[in-house]
Amino acid sequence: MAELDHAARFAELIGAANVLTAASDKAPYLVEWRDLYQGVTPMVLRPGTVEEVSAVLRHADANGLKIVPQGGNTGLVGGQIPKESGDEIVLSLARLNRVRDVDPQGFTITVEAGVVLETLQREADAVDRLFPLALGSQGSCQIGGNLSTNAGGTAVLAYGNSRDLVLGLEVVLANGDVWNGLRALRKDNTGYDLKHMFIGGEGTLGVITAATLKLFPKPKKLEVAFIGLSSPEAALELFSTAKAQAGPILTGFEIMPRVGLEFCLRHLPGARDPLAGPHPWYVLMELSSGTEAFPVRDLLEAILGEAYEKGLVEDAAFAESMAQAQDFWHIRHGMSEVQRAEGGSIKHDVSVPVASIPAFLARAIAAVEAMVPGCRPVPFGHLGDGNIHFNVSQPVGADKEAYIARWDEMNALVHGIVHEFNGSISAEHGIGRLKRDLLREVKSPLELDLMQRIKSAFDPNNTLNPGRVL
Ligand code: FAD
Repeated sequence: MAELDHAARFAELIGAANVLTAASDKAPYLVEWRDLYQGVTPMVLRPGTVEEVSAVLRHADANGLKIVPQGGNTGLVGGQIPKESGDEIVLSLARLNRVRDVDPQGFTITVEAGVVLETLQREADAVDRLFPLALGSQGSCQIGGNLSTNAGGTAVLAYGNSRDLVLGLEVVLANGDVWNGLRALRKDNTGYDLKHMFIGGEGTLGVITAATLKLFPKPKKLEVAFIGLSSPEAALELFSTAKAQAGPILTGFEIMPRVGLEFCLRHLPGARDPLAGPHPWYVLMELSSGTEAFPVRDLLEAILGEAYEKGLVEDAAFAESMAQAQDFWHIRHGMSEVQRAEGGSIKHDVSVPVASIPAFLARAIAAVEAMVPGCRPVPFGHLGDGNIHFNVSQPVGADKEAYIARWDEMNALVHGIVHEFNGSISAEHGIGRLKRDLLREVKSPLELDLMQRIKSAFDPNNTLNPGRVL
């Protein structure tokens, strides 16, 4: 069957308006956020129901077509972009965007894959509940993409990764079969828990079309402080003090270097330095409680007062309003975006045991500075989870292309240090295409063999996201 015939068949299945073949219509689906990949595709399919997703996959699988599921296209490892070979079809989940059920009493919500994360947060908020997943990309990324990448973000410290927020899934398998696993059970030990195959599966094992998710009590009191410190060692000690004293009430602990804040002040609209003087490092700390009566502010002040006396903290600003708390978070969430304005940036999404963060940072910063004199390391992120986005901006005035050409070399250097700390080379962004060849270095032959066998069992014709992950 020729390409045109397939397009005509898909038009019968999902409507001609939902089969995009014109270059201008396809363009937004072919370039990703970092501009690392420029994809080529014969068509973009936009089904609107689970039945339509099923029909599309049934036809694709039976005819040897390759399918790339795409959510909000904010993924950072290239998994959602079709390859340059031009034979992979993009399957956009954006039109599956209904909220199917909200159950505030049972603390659950059931939504379709294309619901944008920010919309989902608002739906929960409207019934006085919290959906805690929070990422810098939350205005664009979709819950189907979040689950497929097992996204982390800034609330992992208190609520866990995306995986921990899921009760049930609805998935269309590569051959078009629909698995309705939309159970809202908190306890269910009936054999293998299949949903976890698809969470973090990066679209290689099935297409998530809907999910039943956990909701939480909405914080009634929330306090945020923006803190200046001299070193990652001080930040780590502040973290352990805060964790010991606040326990589950500590809901955010993010570290940022001065250079990252400077980038924000230069390029992020509305960003202002919350503190008077410059400090080498910053921590954004959030405490929140579902109990109105809990003295959250007193606790935050006590923790910081003690830290100040110990010499851990140089200065701190407390958010005096919700708007100011959002301003502090705006800086943290803008940290990825602003690096683009500073030229080339070589990225590493790594994790090490929390207590190793200062030593890791010292080693890795020295190593990249020795490799590229003048480069600007911008390591930031989720200190409380041991997860650092070890991004390195090019030297001022350097040639961007020549700098980016050293991506693999710098990755090898930094990942080598990560290995020495028994860390992970992909803490939250996944493997996709970007890190596929690195997987062999970090997984044992047995693990790779098991993964390959799982892929073959779920997708024997290699229809879904070929060449990603494995
Ligand atoms: P896409 O990019 O469209 O797809 C990602 C992968 O999932 C692809 O492999 C795709 O094929 C697959 N996929 C998408 N939808 C489905 C589906 N319904 N069924 C099956 N497979 C599917 N990530 C974090 O973890 N933590 C962060 O803090 C974070 N911050 C970010 C900040 C910025 C500014 C940006 C741009 C990205 C950030 N990310 C972060 C990465 C990204 O936002 C997440 O990976 C997100 O979960 C991807 O969702 P998406 O809808 O954009 O998915």
